[in-house]
Amino acid sequence: MVNIDKHKVDFQCPNCNFYNSIQIKQARLRDVVICRGCKSNIRFDDQMNETRKAVRSIKRAMNELEETLKGMSFKIRI
Ligand SMILES: [Zn+2]
Repeated sequence: MVNIDKHKVDFQCPNCNFYNSIQIKQARLRDVVICRGCKSNIRFDDQMNETRKAVRSIKRAMNELEETLKGMSFKIRI
């Protein structure tokens, strides 16, 4: 199983435009990120829980892929 939470996404600070990276988990939990450029606290405006929904649909797609592969028959080529 792929750990989506550990995946990192780059984003630009709205204050100083410095590029920071955030883990999906932090975005999902709406963590406050401290900008590495200007040290300001950046809070993700995810009122609609979009991150959570997106993570759920990725997980569902990964499960489907796994099931598809399991259902395939494998042939040995000599
Ligand atoms: Zn900044």
